[in-house]
Amino acid sequence: ILSIENLDKSFGAVKILKDINVSIEPGEFLVLVGPSGCGKSTLLNCIAGLEESTAGDINIGGRSMIGVAPKDRDIAMVFQSYALYPTMTVGKNITFGMKVRGTPEAEQQAKLNEVATLLQIDHLLDRKPSQLSGGQRQRVAMGRALVRDPQLFLFDEPLSNLDAKLRVEMRTEIKRLHQTLGASIVYVTHDQIEAMTLATKIVVMKDGVIQQVGTPNEIYNHPANMFVADFMGSPS
Ligand code: ATP
Ligand code: MG
Repeated sequence: ILSIENLDKSFGAVKILKDINVSIEPGEFLVLVGPSGCGKSTLLNCIAGLEESTAGDINIGGRSMIGVAPKDRDIAMVFQSYALYPTMTVGKNITFGMKVRGTPEAEQQAKLNEVATLLQIDHLLDRKPSQLSGGQRQRVAMGRALVRDPQLFLFDEPLSNLDAKLRVEMRTEIKRLHQTLGASIVYVTHDQIEAMTLATKIVVMKDGVIQQVGTPNEIYNHPANMFVADFMGSPS
């Protein structure tokens, strides 16, 4: 569903992503891990089209994304900051994208109800984001992505603003959603445990270079180098 080939990305003279090659199959849950500043968000932004890559190609659903605007890419992204519209109610936040795309009103409502039930936020639809807890905001941000029903979901550290208990709860929730929807997901985190529990495939990155790609078991038990072993906390 996604294939990235020989992708480079520079900001000015500084090369941030170096020859990235990754692919994921439909229904796969790919988790991208690596230290702060290694280029995880930059890679997601390139996939989303929010940043232009310097070289290489990104294919989504077999189609090259070169020159394709973010809104025309069949993806939905959940940001670390949630990026909710503060003046709109939860319901409006979730349906806004559909409204912009000209989805009929009845279909918007049906979709909203479906997703609200799935995420257990039915009772919050008339509130403003400022009247929600962190975990509830997180659910709204996910709801906004879910109604898009995209080929590919991109998550950039969606749980990093939550306290430890809620993080575990939402992790279980995301796992359930993945299983229920059979969605294809690229998920960024720097939390090794999150990676181990969610991923069908893990990509470990350091300084813009992929160190290893493998199943959680492969990465943990057979790290390709010292960095991966250290980062994943592999037994020595
Ligand atoms: P974190 O875990 O802290 O979110 P990250 O792996 O997501 O880190 P990126 O945000 O992708 O890291 O940043 C990678 C590098 O690119 C950093 O050195 C950052 O300073 C640099 N960078 C990111 N965006 C820009 C930009 N618009 N212009 C110049 N440099 C940038
Ligand atoms: Mg980041």
